[in-house]
This record gives sequence, C-alpha cells and structure tokens, in this order.
Amino acid sequence: MDHFLYHKGTLHAEDVSLAEIAASVGTPFYCYSTATLTRHFRLFQEALSPLPHLVCFAIKSLSNVAVLKTLGDLGAGMDVVSAGEYLRAKAAGVPGERIVFSGVGKTHEEMRIALEGGVRQFNVESEPEMRALSEVAVSLGKIAPIAIRVNPDVDAKTHAKIATGKKENKFGIPITRAPEVYAEAARLPGLEVVGIDVHIGSQLTDLAPFEQAYQKVADLTRTLRAQGHAIRRLDLGGGLGIPYERANSAPPLPSEYGALIKRTLGDLGCEIEIEPGRLISGNAGVLVSRVIYVKSGEERDFLIVDAAMNDLVRPSMYDAHHDIVPVTEAAPATEAHIYDVVGPVCETGDTFAKARPLAPLKAGDLIAFRSAGAYGAVMASEYNSRLLVPEVLVKDDQYAIIRARPTYIEMLNRDSIPEWL
Ligand SMILES: *Cc1c(COP(=O)(O)O)cnc(C)c1O
Repeated sequence: MDHFLYHKGTLHAEDVSLAEIAASVGTPFYCYSTATLTRHFRLFQEALSPLPHLVCFAIKSLSNVAVLKTLGDLGAGMDVVSAGEYLRAKAAGVPGERIVFSGVGKTHEEMRIALEGGVRQFNVESEPEMRALSEVAVSLGKIAPIAIRVNPDVDAKTHAKIATGKKENKFGIPITRAPEVYAEAARLPGLEVVGIDVHIGSQLTDLAPFEQAYQKVADLTRTLRAQGHAIRRLDLGGGLGIPYERANSAPPLPSEYGALIKRTLGDLGCEIEIEPGRLISGNAGVLVSRVIYVKSGEERDFLIVDAAMNDLVRPSMYDAHHDIVPVTEAAPATEAHIYDVVGPVCETGDTFAKARPLAPLKAGDLIAFRSAGAYGAVMASEYNSRLLVPEVLVKDDQYAIIRARPTYIEMLNRDSIPEWL
C-alpha cells in the first residue's frame, strides 16, 4: 500500500497534486511520500516485535538525507556501504551506534572515518578485510565491533545481478569456513566479535531461500557459541521483494517475514538486525515525466518521454517492470492504446516498457512510473549530459525540493580545461 492515489482525477502524493509539483519543479522528478516510508518502516518494527531488534534502512536504495532523517527520527538504524553513505547517515542525525557498515571492499580510509565517527558494527566480508580493520582500529586506539558475513550458498531465485548468497558470488566467507575465520577474528587485537551477518540477495519474492539461509545461521550460532564466541547479534540482511506489477504479483508481507525470523532464530536470545531497502523505499517513490512526442512506428507507437535510462536505469539494467500511470486519470472504460515507452537517450536500451497498454496519451501529458523510490534516484547519472534528476519529498499537504535540479552552468563548471590545452 502507498499514498499515491487519484483525487478529483489527478494523481496525488498524499495531499499534493503531482501536476502542481510538475508545474513548479519541471519534469522529470522523483517524488517520495513520507507516509509511505513511515508505514513501511513500522511494518518491519511490528513484524519483529517483541524480539529485541534494529531495523537498519539500506541507504543504497534511496540515500537523500531528508529521507534518511525521516526514517532516522522514527528510530531506524542505517545500513551503509561506503563512507559517503556513512556521512549521509550522520548528516541526517543518526547516531553512530545505529549505523552498520556493510560492503565487500571497505578501504582503510572508510574504516577510519567510521571508527572515528562511531559505528554499531562492521559487517566484514573477508579475512584480508578483517586483518586490515584490526590494524586500522589498533592504530586509532579503538576496538571495532564486527559481524562476519557468511555466504550460506542458497539460491535466492532472483535476478542474477542481485543474487548474492550463492557460493560463486563475491560476498561473504563460505559458511563452512566460518569456525576457522571466527577463531582468527577472536585473536586479532583490534576486533570484538559481536555477531553473524548474512544477506542473500534482493527482490526476493519467496520466503523459502530466507528460511534455508536463516536455518543455517541458527546452526552456526550454536556452533560458534560452543566454540566460545559471544554471538549476541544476528544481522539478517535485506532483500524482501515488492510488487512491481501490481496486477499480478503478491510477494510475502513483512509480517510473514517476521514470523519466519521468529520461528528460525527467535529462541537464540540474540538481537536481530535487518537491512531492508527496497521494501521501505520502493513504493514510497514515483518518477514523474512528461510526454515529449508520440511517434508512430512501423509496429506500434512510441511514447517518447522526458525521463530516460540515466534517470531510472532499472528497466535497462535489470529488465525491470515499472507500472506506468497517467497523472490525469483516464475516464472510466477508456480503451487502452499499446505503446513502447522510451526516453531520449541514444541507446535502444533506453526503453522503459515494450507493448504496454496505457490510456491514450498526447504530447505534454504527465505520466508516473510507480515503485521508483528504490534504486531510482541513487542510480541516476548525467549520461548524455542530461541534468541530474531532482527529488521532492511530500508530507501531508506540504512538499519540498530535497535535491534541486542542477543548472547547465553548474554541470559545465564541474569540468575544467587544463592550462596547457
Ligand atoms: C542491497 C543490500 C541490502 C538491501 O537490499 P534490498 O533488496 O533493497 O532490501 C541490504 N543489505 C546488504 C548487505 C545489501 O547489499
């Protein structure tokens, strides 16, 4: 459920008309709903209660500081994968003790920034990283709390580019080697082992892979405790999928996911951390775009819109589906027209949808790509020297630009011509 609904024939974000925002901000733009972000975060809180837990929002899915503050003020923790994300969490007012640092290739500099600023734990993904972290911590006179990311070798049954829990993936250490790696971690002077971490992939639409992974984590917890490690936190990653195609998909609910966690891990007395990104931010955002031209093609008509693959890369990168709706509601019983919805970028891959039935549209009409809050703005680029897409946050009847569209001058001024040229 989200808060993008039609009022009096116009699509609104909460109580604000998307047409009104388009008129003042220009298109394309991302628009996020505070109520939807809040609702999704709370669903996870409720799903894990009464277990001691921390819901850490995966910043990589949507990293605007205003969004992070919205969630941080509700008590959310943050899962970060770079120093940049760490500093965003801090800028949003999230204390270090609620920030988990994940990622397969943290640099010494990133480790230093997080250790000095305060961090809940590092999720360590390899032995070389573990040794480096110990050295950096010792050099700063600090102890780094760590969980070690284990790779449980389960098939997440999702898109290959976002499956991370198979043994051939680059993530974590093989779960079979965990006892040996934990033994070394316990000997390293700069580290304190606090838990186990696992994350098997993204956009999972079935609970079975989670169940397999979490069962293995439960077994490993008992094994490691028997070997003398104080395992008190379990970080279970993110990955719960969302219904991108509303008409025919119904992924598991956070409540069902929470019940599974309680069933598999609830009796271990551990604090549970989860790192959902997409489920919190995905349906909390839309990308609003304007039709530039309707072009008749040999096979069907093209809807050429002012958003492109540089603004929302998911369709071309992951073959992802986004529902597309007109901002002005179609009259009931309007017959659909079949379009290819494309952007202006010079690549055939710049296609949002093929043969999509939509209400008939004309140049100047506004459309919204739904479920665009996650992995949308954060993956945007200036490819084709298109200005970086702006972001707007709505709360009830208020809205604000939370990242402005740059000007052409600003874009040009970032380049410099050497004196010798
Ligand atoms: C990407 C990622 C997440 C978030 O995944 P979602 O599918 O957006 O929930 C959480 N943890 C880690 C380690 C990740 O890499």
